[in-house]
Amino acid sequence: SASACLGLWHAHLYREGRSWRQKLERALNDDRLTVHYQPIVRLSDNRICGAEALARLVDFDGTLIPPDHFIPAAETCGFIGQITRSVVRRAFTDMAAHFAADPNFYVSINVASEDILSLEFLDFLETETRSHGLSAGQVALELTERSTASEDSLTQAMAAFSRRGYRILIDDFGTGYSNLAYIARMPIAGIKIDRMFTQALDQQAIGALIVSKVCELAAGLKVDLICEGVETEDQAARLAVMYPGMCVQGFLYGRPMPAVPFSRAFAAVDRRGP
Ligand code: C2E
Ligand code: CA
Ligand code: CA
Repeated sequence: SASACLGLWHAHLYREGRSWRQKLERALNDDRLTVHYQPIVRLSDNRICGAEALARLVDFDGTLIPPDHFIPAAETCGFIGQITRSVVRRAFTDMAAHFAADPNFYVSINVASEDILSLEFLDFLETETRSHGLSAGQVALELTERSTASEDSLTQAMAAFSRRGYRILIDDFGTGYSNLAYIARMPIAGIKIDRMFTQALDQQAIGALIVSKVCELAAGLKVDLICEGVETEDQAARLAVMYPGMCVQGFLYGRPMPAVPFSRAFAAVDRRGP
């Protein structure tokens, strides 16, 4: 019957949830969370300006579990705060040479709205920033546009972080509700255009139209613009025409990789000036 079926489904969901909870708990206890880094490059001179930190779970057999699989589970099971903190600590340590060499180099951390809404997280971040000798400007927080928290409370919470100097970026721009009135009022430092639109640059006129409108928006709001998912020279060339000041991220410049190969491929360049 339908109700028996529903009962089985609930039992299934319960088991799934419980198995994720155990999986995440064990992974965090065994320190099996790792972070890969993807370069963020300035389009005008092809210089690296920062790196996005992307979490991975290492399974018992050494395989990497992608974040799309465990981040949603971590959010529902209440582990996201622990994961974010772990990524912050790891990234601050891994990128130490880059931070020291270039005061403008920044690391971009993906945060959940739960993190932004938490004053303890702000305290934690300040403690870690200070103890690693960084400035708040070397830290960006990426918050996806699809966050469900109320916009007013999010805007207020963001303001607390940006007052302390942290850069808030709106991630996956264009995939959410895109309430432009709110975006204009939010204390953001930049917008990241979702890779869906970058990929549509070649194929559909509408892709180019949307990207050029977001460029106008970023210019009007005087915020940074980062375009994700750049895979081809052709896409980079089109973007350079549209908005020479933008930064880009994508397989064309580098895939996400562990800290050691990242530092080998993108050596820390001393930009502390004469
Ligand atoms: P995202 O923030 O949009 O991160 C960019 C994703 O696009 C990464 O997937 C990256 O590997 C992929 N990517 C980068 N360049 C290209 C490209 O040129 N082409 C294509 N097709 N893909 C590209 P990844 O690492 O699997 O991360 C997936 C998502 O998981 C992230 O999407 C982010 O929303 C979330 N995530 C990752 N790490 C964390 C974390 O520490 N905390 C939280 N809350 N979420 C995270
Ligand atoms: Ca991101
Ligand atoms: Ca994104």
